[in-house]
Amino acid sequence: MKGLVFLLLIFVFGFSKEMNLKKVEDNIYMVRGVDELPSLENAGFMSNAYGVLTEEGWVVIDTLSTPELSKKFLDQLQRVKRAPVKFAIITHYHPDHWYGAKTFKDAGAKMVAHRGLYELYKSGIAKSILEEANKNFRGLYKSVQLVEPDIVVDNYKKLKVGKEEFEIIAMTPAHTNSDLVIYMPKKKVLFAGDLVYQKRVPFMADRNASSKGWEEALKKMKNMDIKVLLGGHNDPMDKSAIDYTLGYITYLRQNIKKMKEEGKFIDEIKATLQDTPYKSDAMYQQFHNANIFKVDSELDVEP
Ligand SMILES: [Zn+2]
Repeated sequence: MKGLVFLLLIFVFGFSKEMNLKKVEDNIYMVRGVDELPSLENAGFMSNAYGVLTEEGWVVIDTLSTPELSKKFLDQLQRVKRAPVKFAIITHYHPDHWYGAKTFKDAGAKMVAHRGLYELYKSGIAKSILEEANKNFRGLYKSVQLVEPDIVVDNYKKLKVGKEEFEIIAMTPAHTNSDLVIYMPKKKVLFAGDLVYQKRVPFMADRNASSKGWEEALKKMKNMDIKVLLGGHNDPMDKSAIDYTLGYITYLRQNIKKMKEEGKFIDEIKATLQDTPYKSDAMYQQFHNANIFKVDSELDVEP
């Protein structure tokens, strides 16, 4: 009996890590990563990637954490339709969105990214970050090879592929200094990268993040005509996710600001903010305290 339970657990656990391509909308497909930090156990499959099928071929949004994962994803897209990958658009420079990119370049795609990612690559800093991350995550990124963007976006770029239009809009600084969102006007679909969540706490502690810029980015998105919101994490969302994300960021900023004005120090601020309306949401344990520290230090230098 015990053996059977054990086997069942292995089956369920193993099954949960499988990569299953799901159709989200007409011609839009996704794979959904788990809500965890990267680990050898989840093989770094803790973020989403999307494929949009056009008459000319695939457009991929985000490329997962490793070449192993991105090859699996590409295989699954090719099983839906054997067609070239025209573009791979990277929403920002974090490993779980960028590190699988080489697979798509090798397949002939043009890689599209924000200036911030391009500069991180060109400066060599991206390479040091990769080496450090590979050590910290026990070799998880050992087969990653960073690749250079072919198309660099500063503010805005429109791509026409087949009958589809992809409006690539910079929203920086926010989650990082390299954030892009991709809007498909006919479908009213917005690919939001790591800028929008539902019932999941955002990661705000990147050294180039700006909580103030992030609030502004979310306010811009609120003015857009969006039917479906597809994020770097989470299942498909609707527009209410923008309010959720804005709610958390503003809650942190306002509370920390108030306590700082009252002369409170970071330890007290952190202790006071342990119990919040967001405490049962995904990734709270992993990100919330780091977010408090980051926002606190941002407020120190904000005019
Ligand atoms: Zn990210």
